Amino acid sequence: MYIRVQTPLKPTYLVYFILLLACCISCSDTNEKKPAPNFIIIFTDDQGYGDLGCFGHPTIKTPNLDQVAAEGQKWTQFYVAAPVCTPSRAALMTGRYPARNGMTSAKRVVLFPNSAGGLPQSEITIAEVLKQENYATGIIGKWHLGHLPSYLPTRQGFDYFYGVPYSNDMKALGNMPSYWDNSHDPYYQARTDQFDVPLLENLEVIERPVDQTTITRRYTEKAVAFIKTNKDRPFFLYLAHSMPHIPLFAHKDFEKSSKQGLYGDVIQEIDWSVGQVLRTLYQLGLENNTIVVFSSDNGPWLAYKSHGGSAGPLRGGKGTTFEGGQRVPTIFWGPGYIKPGVVDELGSTLDLIHTFASFSNTKIPGERKMDGYDLSPVLQGVTAESPRSTFFYWSRAELHAVRSGRWKLYLKQHHPINYGKESISLEKPELYDLQADISERYDLSAQHPGIADSLRRLMEHHKASFADSLPDHLAARIE
Ligand code: MG
Repeated sequence: MYIRVQTPLKPTYLVYFILLLACCISCSDTNEKKPAPNFIIIFTDDQGYGDLGCFGHPTIKTPNLDQVAAEGQKWTQFYVAAPVCTPSRAALMTGRYPARNGMTSAKRVVLFPNSAGGLPQSEITIAEVLKQENYATGIIGKWHLGHLPSYLPTRQGFDYFYGVPYSNDMKALGNMPSYWDNSHDPYYQARTDQFDVPLLENLEVIERPVDQTTITRRYTEKAVAFIKTNKDRPFFLYLAHSMPHIPLFAHKDFEKSSKQGLYGDVIQEIDWSVGQVLRTLYQLGLENNTIVVFSSDNGPWLAYKSHGGSAGPLRGGKGTTFEGGQRVPTIFWGPGYIKPGVVDELGSTLDLIHTFASFSNTKIPGERKMDGYDLSPVLQGVTAESPRSTFFYWSRAELHAVRSGRWKLYLKQHHPINYGKESISLEKPELYDLQADISERYDLSAQHPGIADSLRRLMEHHKASFADSLPDHLAARIE
């Protein structure tokens, strides 16, 4: 693990007195302004709600993340704004549902290597918000918001980009064994040259195809270097791992390290990577001035059998608006800011831009409809109640469901077999009590028609807010 917890010294009365005196002196200057914190988002790809030790996995060992969770805040009801990569990442970056900026569409579920578009320049990203306060900004890992030069991260507020522009399975070369057909074998290993994915540094392709067997390790080394380079100024690091999205690759040091096959090895390498980042913060004395967020971009890709993760007790996985598709294992860490505990309130990656703006005392410029909330009062322990009481579940520019408090109402769902391809309008809305029925097994719409009606009205009101922000030319960007 990244640091040992020290056993406190047995204090004497003299030590108590000195501590009390020190406290009085520090409290006398209540106007002292804290310096702007550093922010690190560690974002995994297709990692399920149940894939970490601290979220209940029995055999994948994640001691670093378990320690991060124990020292920070573990959020058990935290959501991404879409159940697939591109729209989920667009929402994290902008604090807006992707239907507002064209990063979701009925035509294509995510951006592909032959897509012409990307996140519009008119959008304001977290990096651009923090740039106002002269943050150093870097993304290491997967972007997936446009691979053409005018859409790359360096055009969206990032000083530095090292990573892949889209998913690690894209541009699979022909005449190779099918990953899908082989994914029943937990140790099936694809060849890294089977996928023609480029590795970029800023605007330049530096390796193609990228050697994915060392990708998690290289991202980690670059992340540590970025922190060291920027240790004397505020920084924002977005470390967006390409794993555990298939095809799975782990460094040879992690081969057969878990009892869960290659998927477990990959997660355990990511856990090691988290430890390296935290260790670096401690080595540089940045632990009290940095906030680390760990989360995943969507639920597990269950179709890939043992190469997809686990949503734990949640229904469904990637590509669905069931809880398993959009509820993700999320931890906030930062001894200088975050009050340790477990938070069962609602939160979302949509909220990060507001939360970071609050911590850094910056404003989100311009006038635009936003979909997030400032979670900083909950993170700091000022209040136990999240400002977010509702969450809307969108897929492919279609509003499927809403959650309000403990209740979730569906008007649409994914096709029961053809997940991710089609939505179906339900003949009868379905209502679930997520507090008593975390797995969404018992439809209670007949027992609580009034609650179903009020949630339906919430959905109508929410949809109306898109009337002037969803022009067709934007909605067609993912093509
Ligand atoms: Mg994903």
